[in-house]
Amino acid sequence: MRHLHWFQNDLRLADNAALLSACDAESLLCLYLLPKPRPWCNLTGIGPQRNRFLRESLQALREALQELGQDLMVLEGSPELVIPQVVERFSIDTVSTSQTPGWYETQALQFLAARLPVPLTVHPGNTLFTPDQFPFSWDEYPATFSPFRRKVEQLAIAPLLWSPEKLPPPPAAQFDAIPVAAASPHPGLPLPGGRTAGLRRLDQFLFQEAGIVDYKSTRNDLNGLAGSSTLSPWIANGALSVKEVAHAIFRFEKERVANESTYWLYFELLWREFFHWRAMLDGLTLYRQSGRHKGSSLRSFDPRQFARWCAGDTDYPLVNALMHQLTATGWMSNRGRQIAASCLIHELNLDWRYGAAFFEQQLIDYDVGSNYGNWQYIAGVGSDPRGGRHFNLEKQAAQYDEAGVFTRKWDGFRVPQPAYVVDGADWPITGPR
Ligand SMILES: Cc1cc2nc3c(=O)[nH]c(=O)nc-3n(C[C@H](O)[C@H](O)[C@H](O)COP(=O)(O)OP(=O)(O)OC[C@H]3O[C@@H](n4cnc5c(N)ncnc54)[C@H](O)[C@@H]3O)c2cc1C
Repeated sequence: MRHLHWFQNDLRLADNAALLSACDAESLLCLYLLPKPRPWCNLTGIGPQRNRFLRESLQALREALQELGQDLMVLEGSPELVIPQVVERFSIDTVSTSQTPGWYETQALQFLAARLPVPLTVHPGNTLFTPDQFPFSWDEYPATFSPFRRKVEQLAIAPLLWSPEKLPPPPAAQFDAIPVAAASPHPGLPLPGGRTAGLRRLDQFLFQEAGIVDYKSTRNDLNGLAGSSTLSPWIANGALSVKEVAHAIFRFEKERVANESTYWLYFELLWREFFHWRAMLDGLTLYRQSGRHKGSSLRSFDPRQFARWCAGDTDYPLVNALMHQLTATGWMSNRGRQIAASCLIHELNLDWRYGAAFFEQQLIDYDVGSNYGNWQYIAGVGSDPRGGRHFNLEKQAAQYDEAGVFTRKWDGFRVPQPAYVVDGADWPITGPR
């Protein structure tokens, strides 16, 4: 049997059910398709840091595969067009992949299954639980986080699957090199792609520095690698399995200390879990302006405001600094994301989906459920029981960047821009400030 495994957000060998299912094959073709991002909200392509992190992750996966006599073929294009051609060329008998949420991703999988002349098996994705563990049916999936958490937090997490020590050989001798990205990790927040770097960070945050012990009080720090775990980039593309992170937390609690903070890190993984399955359920409504709710709120689209927000050139210094941090490093803290999102939605009055699309383009930890779910939450069209979050930006700056160190570090203080208004005929007028 000649098998093809299509890697998506499961860029690891350990705890990878789909890969283990291929171990008995006669040959194994490991394939990755570089994302072909949808043109969405006038944005195309992926940002330099997201691109860099992805390519480093793929290179690391390739090297891990090569140690087992395997290799990774990296191609570009839509799965439903490319994979059937590869299947034909290498006379493949079976195909596997791991599940990922998102309407477009699910559609691509359905198109692929319809066009494939061989069976396609979809294995569980990077989640803590499988739906058959939930003490509720799909119809009863909670609309908000707290009831979800209460129902799932006592569930056992399955043990990790072993890492294969041997894999079937690839069907071809050599694949093309993975093109290297132009960007390199930012010296101010160096987050290299690949499983080894992810494991190193996990060990550092938990066991070496014990940052987890007071995580609950430090997690709002705006700088990466400071107060929060900064594990999201490796979890998002599956270089780390989320179960692996959960088991590491439990081991820390057993061997060292268990307190409110150690629980809180697990609590945040539950947020990710909640948004993951919500994204599966919500389908296309995840991208609707009104989300799961009926009707729509009136929003204008002012391209200049959006451009200023993306460029970090608004009238809000902390937001500017956060946006510079994002575009320079590909990462932003949870507190920072809430502040930047609240600014776009509630101060600039823009449609939340433009902000979400920009985050999708730039974030090295982009995750469809967490990104769109959190944006909907702040916009008040998703899972927030309070109907959205409008942060007071001055108060946030005073609380989280009291001395302005972060704002200065990321060049947030900008020269004031002239006010920009339009007259009745939509002609731009530059008036006094
Ligand atoms: C507008 C907005 C967009 C976001 N987009 C993404 C995204 O594309 N990808 C992404 O992984 N996270 C996203 N988040 C969630 C959160 O901001 C990041 O997961 C977190 O900042 C990553 O840093 P960390 O690893 O240090 O998190 P920690 O605080 O150390 O948390 C540990 C892990 O828990 C998960 N997590 C933490 N907070 C959340 C949350 N609010 N929602 C879902 N999962 C969470 C992440 O996997 C994270 O790595 C978004 C949040 C907002 C407000």
